[in-house]
Amino acid sequence: QGASSEAEQLDRLMERIEQGVEEFGQTSRAAREATSAYHSELSVKAGELETVPSTGAVISELASITRAMLKRTVEIEKAMQRSEEQTRNLKRRLEETRRVAEEDHLTGLPNRRAFEARYEAEYRAARAVGEALCVAFCDIDHFKRVNDTHGHDAGDRVLRLVAENLARISNERCHVARHGGEEFVVLFRDATIDEAFEKLNGLRAQLASRRLVNRSTDLPIGQLTFSVGIADVFASRNRRLALKAADAALYRAKRNGRNRICVARPNETRSSSQDS
Ligand code: GH3
Ligand code: MG
Ligand code: MG
Repeated sequence: QGASSEAEQLDRLMERIEQGVEEFGQTSRAAREATSAYHSELSVKAGELETVPSTGAVISELASITRAMLKRTVEIEKAMQRSEEQTRNLKRRLEETRRVAEEDHLTGLPNRRAFEARYEAEYRAARAVGEALCVAFCDIDHFKRVNDTHGHDAGDRVLRLVAENLARISNERCHVARHGGEEFVVLFRDATIDEAFEKLNGLRAQLASRRLVNRSTDLPIGQLTFSVGIADVFASRNRRLALKAADAALYRAKRNGRNRICVARPNETRSSSQDS
């Protein structure tokens, strides 16, 4: 709850900064263009002053003031150019910061924060056009054993392996993210529960058929499996309850022996209907 509102605040702040940088970039560009126009006008006037036949003291002073101002406009233009360049750098760094903030460092997948934003956007978009949306939680089975037996680094490699496997089904209609720990979340847009089930079941079977070996010790890790809970998002009253339904289905998959996929039941979909 607190973390999510903090993330939202950070998002709003980032947006404001980006907007500010954008506006500043436009203002400074406009100012430079105005300075440049002023400079051209001033040089015309300076030229005209030189053609004035009189060589009186007033005229020559006016001419020297004009030349000094011309020099100043050149300096201002250069300074404005530098500030535009800095604005561009700042924009790039902001984009980079946003990217890093939404990426899971270990697997390179979008993190939970990125998923939340994606989920909200896909939910609205799918609802608006009446398309299906499914969400699935995938949790590695007995992952703690991998850590306990082979160490944390081997555990990390296993996490990357599972992430790579899941990422294979990702495209513009299927979004895979690391939800945290050894749990991943997949969002299927415009896919039925059956289609989403088949996609994940293919990956599940493929991974389960392998026998893994710890690369740094040559000791067998053996079979690695994951369990999945999947829910039709629009079968729930809101998107938060849909996540709860997928989570309840995941726990049923664990209870029923792991290495399997369970689809959320109507009672899970409606579960905790007293909270909104
Ligand atoms: P279950 O089948 O019921 O899901 O059992 P499990 O052992 O997979 O689940 P449990 O929640 O007991 O343990 C998850 C472990 O995942 C505990 C935690 O130390 C480990 N873990 C979480 N994040 C990371 C990580 O980034 N790297 C490594 N190596 N381990 C992690
Ligand atoms: Mg687990
Ligand atoms: Mg877990």
